[in-house]
Amino acid sequence: MNSQLPVYRQLTRNEFTGRVESLRKIMRFCRLCPRKCGVNRLAGEKGYCQARDKLEISSYGAHYGEESVLVGEGGSGTIFLTWCNLRCCFCQNQEISLLGQGRIVSIQECAEIMLRLQERGCHNINLVTPSHYAPQLVEAIFLASAAGLSLPVVWNCSGYENVEVLKLLDGIIDIYMPDLKYNQADTAKLLSNAPDYVVRSRESIREMYRQVGDLLVVNGLAAKGLLVRHLILPGKIEESLGILDFIAKEISFRTYVNVMSQYHPCGVVPADLNRPLFLTEYQKVVEKAVSLGLTRGLK
Ligand code: SF4
Repeated sequence: MNSQLPVYRQLTRNEFTGRVESLRKIMRFCRLCPRKCGVNRLAGEKGYCQARDKLEISSYGAHYGEESVLVGEGGSGTIFLTWCNLRCCFCQNQEISLLGQGRIVSIQECAEIMLRLQERGCHNINLVTPSHYAPQLVEAIFLASAAGLSLPVVWNCSGYENVEVLKLLDGIIDIYMPDLKYNQADTAKLLSNAPDYVVRSRESIREMYRQVGDLLVVNGLAAKGLLVRHLILPGKIEESLGILDFIAKEISFRTYVNVMSQYHPCGVVPADLNRPLFLTEYQKVVEKAVSLGLTRGLK
């Protein structure tokens, strides 16, 4: 088997449909994410994320603003999903994540979008904020795969994942791209109303790494593996330093980490977040990454 073929191409039809069925069952008493709302999404009920049973997307297209290993020449084939299970107060995409901008698409249409992105020359299918639609997206990957999709699929998520769900994505997702946002429960509670974020994100990243390992880059493009993003927050450098320690010491110093400095105030945020990041704050975090050997994702 060609190791550069996406992992889902090695799954049998029965395995695929079994995964879709198991994921749909989880929607019946929804625990697709750690919030475990328990609502019946299949009956149209809504939980914390506001998503229902139907897939909703806000936009899709070739995206050139992602990491260079995802973009190449043809761009990353992004599909922006509507709503979000984390709902951070500083979110830069509030129209989509909090206000629900988007439209309902059928699973078949979503599969066709994936194929269209492939035809357009994109290098991967990049599912942005996918966790609350895991069953529908896996079914769409299945349909697209049967029709010839052969691009790696990127699970571009907040890091606030349910490991039970991640295990059902094993052998389907090629590249996990979680955020790692917080290192302290108090901060996660204050900014995302998710005091268990640190515990859940760490166990999720361990599971993702178990499935896909360090990022494999072939001819300049990501083929498989883990890529972690971390947005530095103003005045919260200790969070960043703790996160980098965790990645280097408990995951792998070969982890591809994108340390991001582009925070700008958005939405209703606590006073200390109401400013952009200082250059000195960014430099301290980068120095720490270098000292830990986490250099793969540094610009
Ligand atoms: S995916 Fe949505 S409804 Fe399901 S547990 Fe998470 S927040 Fe609740």
